[in-house]
Amino acid sequence: MNRRRRIYEGKAKTLYEGPEPGTLIQFFKDDVTAFNTKKHEIFDGKGVLNNRISEYVFDNLNRIGIPTHFIKRMNMREQLIKEVEMIPLEIVVRNIAAGQMIQHLGVKEGTVLPRSIIEFYYKNNALNDPLVSEEHITAFGWASPSEIDDMMALIIRVNDFLSGLFWGIGIQLVDFKIECGRLFEGDLMRIIVADEISPDSCRLWDIKTKRKMDKDCFRENLGGMIENYCEVAFRLGIINQKETQRATGPILVKSDQ
Ligand code: UDP
Repeated sequence: MNRRRRIYEGKAKTLYEGPEPGTLIQFFKDDVTAFNTKKHEIFDGKGVLNNRISEYVFDNLNRIGIPTHFIKRMNMREQLIKEVEMIPLEIVVRNIAAGQMIQHLGVKEGTVLPRSIIEFYYKNNALNDPLVSEEHITAFGWASPSEIDDMMALIIRVNDFLSGLFWGIGIQLVDFKIECGRLFEGDLMRIIVADEISPDSCRLWDIKTKRKMDKDCFRENLGGMIENYCEVAFRLGIINQKETQRATGPILVKSDQ
């Protein structure tokens, strides 16, 4: 029985109180949702894969000096993270046109954008996470102008790092979403990257075949979602070839514990 205090229940993750003050445990679920939860399914092993992929990304971000909430992976589904005050925004960077951009602006899917475009969405399920401007963000007090600058600087660095990381394994980073939080250390506060970075929150296309290797497999009923997440993990060197063949059940991921 789980006796830990649950702090927050999200669509794909649950947060529990951590072992020490200022820490939390982030649990990755197998739930996959799209279109503001109108579409919902469970995929065995998805949480295990996202835990490992997000661990890999966040650990590397920490190592190159991009601050994140990640401390360490605890087990197959859980990470120890720093408790932050979440900023209620989803920050999206787009390198290639896809998703909402093609629906709203009529840009052809796959168009390489003249420069990376940053967008902010207000995190509010009841309102369907609307696109908002910097004016809305400051007027309603969700973040200050300097915090917006910090978030933009962070996401551009994350975008450059991830674009190179994925390009090196034959995958194009089309777009992705991050969420940021305020970390309080004594009298100081800084903005850090929180939440997760995984194929749930990125669009990833195989460079050679243009195959979609992310949550669009689910959104667009393309099938093979877990197989594609496995393939991303395999190319990153996180799981081995044998483990990718167990794609129908809970995935056994090698553990260093
Ligand atoms: N995204 C996300 N969570 C959301 C909305 C979007 O992780 O609630 C990610 C999505 O996977 C994609 C990027 O943000 O990589 C841009 O998504 P878009 O705005 O095109 O919306 P979508 O088509 O996913 O509704």
